[in-house]
Amino acid sequence: MALYQEQNIKVYNSISGEKENFKTLVDGYVGMYVCGPTVYSNVHLGNVRTFMSFDMVFRYLKHLGYKVRFVRNITDAGHLENDADVGEDRIAKKARLEQIEPMEVVQRYTVDFHNILNKFNFLPPSIEPTATGHIIEQIEIIKTIIDKGLAYEVNGSVYFDVLKYNETKPYGILSKRNVEDLIHNTRVLDGQSDKKNPQDFALWKKAEPQHIMRWPSPWSDGFPGWHLECTAMSTKYLGEQFDIHGGGMDLKFPHHECEIAQAEACNGHNPVSYWMHANMLIMNGKKMAKSTGNYILPNEIFSGDNQHITKAYSPSVARFFMLQAHYRSILDFTNNGLLASEKGFNRLLDGINSITDLKAGNKSTIDIAAWRQKCYDAMNDDFNSPILIANLFEGVKYINQIKEGSATISASDLELLQNTMTVFTFDILGLTNITKADNSSDKLEGAVDLLINLRQEARANKDFALSDKIRDELAASGIQLKDGKEGTTFTTN
Ligand code: AMP
Ligand code: ZN
Repeated sequence: MALYQEQNIKVYNSISGEKENFKTLVDGYVGMYVCGPTVYSNVHLGNVRTFMSFDMVFRYLKHLGYKVRFVRNITDAGHLENDADVGEDRIAKKARLEQIEPMEVVQRYTVDFHNILNKFNFLPPSIEPTATGHIIEQIEIIKTIIDKGLAYEVNGSVYFDVLKYNETKPYGILSKRNVEDLIHNTRVLDGQSDKKNPQDFALWKKAEPQHIMRWPSPWSDGFPGWHLECTAMSTKYLGEQFDIHGGGMDLKFPHHECEIAQAEACNGHNPVSYWMHANMLIMNGKKMAKSTGNYILPNEIFSGDNQHITKAYSPSVARFFMLQAHYRSILDFTNNGLLASEKGFNRLLDGINSITDLKAGNKSTIDIAAWRQKCYDAMNDDFNSPILIANLFEGVKYINQIKEGSATISASDLELLQNTMTVFTFDILGLTNITKADNSSDKLEGAVDLLINLRQEARANKDFALSDKIRDELAASGIQLKDGKEGTTFTTN
């Protein structure tokens, strides 16, 4: 019997607002789609949090023995500066400002995204399709929606007719908005727009002459609307109906609402069984966001080079920090939070690494099987990683009791204890076993500090050839020295 047949997961479904029993469309298989990044800038820690929540979900479902097809796209066209179909394409704007090709922007930030996710020990998705690789599929969907009478063309652009759609299917079903409120709350059109009604959204936009990201279509040389790519790619790789659709809470409206409307209009049924939304990482009381400048980059966490933190933290400590909050709770990023997580994470690793020193006795005075089930129960309850972590600390308590002799454990339970601790910590939470002793960033810091001191001595002796050599050779290996009032510090790239 597969593990998933023994463990009953409940998933909070954003569309019903309730935790529901998780039942897949096809027994043993899970289709999961998560909206990926718009690759026009470096991913910040907030973006990482959302993707990490779904990495954890992916890991747990795989652990339970499901065959998971996990599709996470790359948005490399169509996402305008303003989510309401106006403004410049984010990637085209960056390309214009930097005087490079849009695809150079895409390449640069896709590579950055992958590097960062690797550092955080993410599993790669099963498929990572791009919007620009699916223009034909998007055009086909638009044609179908026009044929169904739910979209209209004006001056080379095509818009989804929200009011017409709403006559038969509820628009706003996910974000709990109704069209009357939307009409009430949206600005009247200023005469500049081709839309019939302000709540309509673009499926295809005719490119202005200066817009460089453009493709031919039956309506104009232009580009697809942002919401459409996810409908095209999820349908192509997961089918018209699939199990899980995820993304950050801020994507509920309009992005996911429009995805539902497009899929319903095109295929005639609700595309997704479970909508999952990850909550936001905040800093200084506000959402972490690129646009406001209120963000921290993962590499700044790893180097310690940011005003909001007092030291560098390893990727696993940052990962542990984020998984200590439930994915549906807001998480406040603070240096104190990271310091506490570092302590906690080291305590967890110390516990795990000392299991091999434990001696088995004749019988167990601790019920390891019941404790193991509590770990599963936590994850089964809408992927409750903080409760799981609390249970893992319970495991550390057992390890210490056995070590001190206040508890005993049988050989088979000892094996179960070790297996449970490692499987949940490393396979499911995706943490890595880097103890302080072999933490490479600590070692690097020690070595560079030594070179900084030697350079200072060389300067004091007016041996500038040597001091420059130390600085330049460190720079060549990606370590930049910065001389400041407080002394010399370094950053790595
Ligand atoms: P984007 O590249 O802007 O499309 O965002 C990529 C993902 O990051 C989306 O799922 C967003 O919902 C998510 N996201 C953006 N800001 C935050 C944040 N502060 N906390 C958590 N997730 C975020
Ligand atoms: Zn999407």
